[in-house]
Amino acid sequence: MPYLDSHEPVLSLTTGPVPAYPAVLRAMGSPISYDADPVFQHRYANVVETARVALRSRSPPVILQGEPVLALEAAAASLIAADDVVLNLVSGVYGKGFASWARRHAGEVIELEVPFNEAIPAEAVAAELRRRPDVTVVSVCHHDTPSGTLNPVASIGTVVASHGGYFLVDAVSSFGGLDVHPDACAADVFVTGGNKCLGCPPGLSLVGVSDRAWAKMERNPAAPRASALSLLDWKEAWRPGRQFPSTPLIAEINGLAAALDLYLAEGPEQVWARHALTAAACRAGITAMGLELWPARAEISAPTATVVRVPPNLDEAVLRAVARQRYGMVFSGGRGATAGLVTRIGHMGPSAQPIFATLAVTALGGALRALGHPVALGAGVEASLAVIDEASRSP
Ligand SMILES: *Cc1c(COP(=O)(O)O)cnc(C)c1O
Repeated sequence: MPYLDSHEPVLSLTTGPVPAYPAVLRAMGSPISYDADPVFQHRYANVVETARVALRSRSPPVILQGEPVLALEAAAASLIAADDVVLNLVSGVYGKGFASWARRHAGEVIELEVPFNEAIPAEAVAAELRRRPDVTVVSVCHHDTPSGTLNPVASIGTVVASHGGYFLVDAVSSFGGLDVHPDACAADVFVTGGNKCLGCPPGLSLVGVSDRAWAKMERNPAAPRASALSLLDWKEAWRPGRQFPSTPLIAEINGLAAALDLYLAEGPEQVWARHALTAAACRAGITAMGLELWPARAEISAPTATVVRVPPNLDEAVLRAVARQRYGMVFSGGRGATAGLVTRIGHMGPSAQPIFATLAVTALGGALRALGHPVALGAGVEASLAVIDEASRSP
């Protein structure tokens, strides 16, 4: 019985968008408030405050009215001025892509690049900053999702801070899935969004901005104002009694409020443990089946995505199509430089459930076997379950 492409899949384990939490979708179905109504204004202030608490930050974040891709572009346009020299750290597709926005505004953009299955060591950043003391802004993608690798943002942040630079972090597919927060990594601009680990539909972005970054944006004559790319426009939007720069996405705000409440009620540490266990169960199963992971080392593998190297001579898109049609399971393909080379299994928010890892191993193994590629399917399933069973025995 094939799961037809015209029917919804059984389970979507992609690297985003993720299936939203039901409570988020219910909240989005609430009546739409008038944005100038005091009830909504207070709710908006509360959402920003809850986001601040979730981000473990001193300053209230900005909610931007668009996907994180818009927020990253806005961050570049607002922070980076014509006299800036940007050091863009590249370990994957998103890191590489940020340079195209940085170049639009910076005097100069230089790059430090590692292979896309590697991470950027903080020592290499320190060495580059010694070589180029004129660097004023350093940008990095924390979890470069098409690679499934994590950069050590806390230690890089320390290096950037001691250099006196501004540090811009893309934490879109990591915040909410592991311990990463703007103040803890000394980020001046910290971009994340709802549709990855927080379990919202695609829509809003959250941007943490340090006091010194706000001051820099205010000094930047080219920082957007009266624009969808403006961070400054939204800086004080949370203060009740103010007029919003434009009508907030009311339903999305209600959904974000529910997502943040869920995150804090479950407990961030518990949420991260759920992501870590799901990823561990997935990796154990994938490797026990005889497949290879894309990240060069386990220590740099993100707990929010398992990126599997596709065996040679196999069409990656066909592999995913077989998993979709036989088992109703949806995975992500690679992107840019990793397209065709990897299949990605997301563990983000609602999809970070350990047993889903076992299902992913089963479906991927079954699809490979159907395509004539031998895998140790039983061993993969056993290894995946063993990780989950072991965790349920420990207190
Ligand atoms: C998903 C993602 C983004 C934003 O992509 P959208 O298409 O706006 O959701 C940015 N950076 C990273 C690392 C991501 O994973």
